[in-house]
This record gives sequence, structure tokens and C-alpha cells, in this order.
Amino acid sequence: MQRKKAVVDAKIESASIAKGLLVIHTGTGKGKSTAAFGTLARALGHGMKAAVVQFIKGRSDTGEEAFFRSAPNLSWHVMGDGFTWETQDAERDHASARKAWELVCGYLQDETINLLILDEFTYALKYGWLTIEEVTEALHQRPSMQHVIITGRGAPDALIELADTVSEIHLVKHAFSNGVQAMPGIEF
Ligand code: ATP
Ligand code: MG
Repeated sequence: MQRKKAVVDAKIESASIAKGLLVIHTGTGKGKSTAAFGTLARALGHGMKAAVVQFIKGRSDTGEEAFFRSAPNLSWHVMGDGFTWETQDAERDHASARKAWELVCGYLQDETINLLILDEFTYALKYGWLTIEEVTEALHQRPSMQHVIITGRGAPDALIELADTVSEIHLVKHAFSNGVQAMPGIEF
């Protein structure tokens, strides 16, 4: 244990870089968005300024939005209209994603924003609403101390390459497949 402590201490000592991080939560398991909102609580607790842009509106009655809406130092935007298979309107989805991206570009140039969360963002790339080139370029150009968290399944390789921290949440089991409905406080 003493040897282990020395190794960990040495690693902590040598970690001297301070920078804005690009964090990705991807994979098929549950917890990508909730982990981002946990980090949001952490950042707001430090008095940091944050913005959340939700690219796909799952539902309008989420507990996290109700809870965080009144938080100081936070802007919360729900941009999408729902999943494509629900809206059945690819043109409208494309237009909403573009509008959301314009908003994001503003935040990516705003040094006062310490943490930016792009929730369900990977789908905008998957469906070709945004190009990976424009996205990586804008992320690359952002203020050097700004943290960005991206959530969504199937994060593309180019985004993973650019990121500092990537977690893939793996599906082991989900209650939904046993017929359990979305329970308030857990699923939304
Ligand atoms: P959460 O918002 O709970 O952290 P998530 O962001 O990891 O979930 P999404 O793909 O955004 O996952 O899913 C949104 C909704 O679908 C949530 O209500 C979530 O609980 C549910 N969900 C997530 N993963 C699965 C799954 N593998 N099977 C069924 N439902 C899921
Ligand atoms: Mg999610």
C-alpha cells in the first residue's frame, strides 16, 4: 500500500497541465446524460458558468431541467423536436440541428462559459446534419479553459481522437427490455 501510494503521489505530482477538457460519454448503456448533469452540478457548485444545449428533445418534463432551470450561472436550451423516427420530418430535424449548432458556436467563442454540455449531440453527426470537420474545427478553436461534454451513442472516431476523456457506457441490462415503463426520477 505504501508503494502504491508513492506511485499515485508521483503521478499526481507530474500531472501539471491545466486546460479545458473535451469529455465524451458514449455507448449503449444508460447514464450518458445523467453523468453530464452530475458534472454540471459539480461545476455550478464551484460557481462556474455553464450552458446546456439539448440537440434532441426527448421529453419536456425532465426532472433535471426543472431542477437546473432556476440555477444561477446556467443557460438551458432544448433545441430538437424529438427523435427522427418520431418527427418523421428529416428537413425539420436538419434545420433544428443547424439552429442549435449556431447557438453552440456562440458559446464556443464565449470565454465566460466554463462548461458547455452538448446533450445527444452525436446524432447530429450521425444523420449528417453537421459535418465532423466544422465540429472539430469549432471545438479546436474554443477558449483554452472551456470544458465541453458531449453525450450520445456512436461518437465518431474523429471526435474521440480530439477528446481528452472518453467513457463508453456499456449496456449490461435495462429495465425497459423487461417491460418497465420510464420511471420519473430515474429515466427522466
Ligand atoms: P440517461 O438520460 O438516463 O443518462 P442516456 O443519456 O445514457 O440515459 P439516451 O440514449 O440518451 O441514454 O436515452 C435516453 C432515455 O432512454 C433515458 O430515459 C434512458 O434511461 C433510456 N435508455 C438509455 N439507455 C437505454 C437502453 N439501453 N435501453 C432502453 N432505454 C434506455
Ligand atoms: Mg442521453
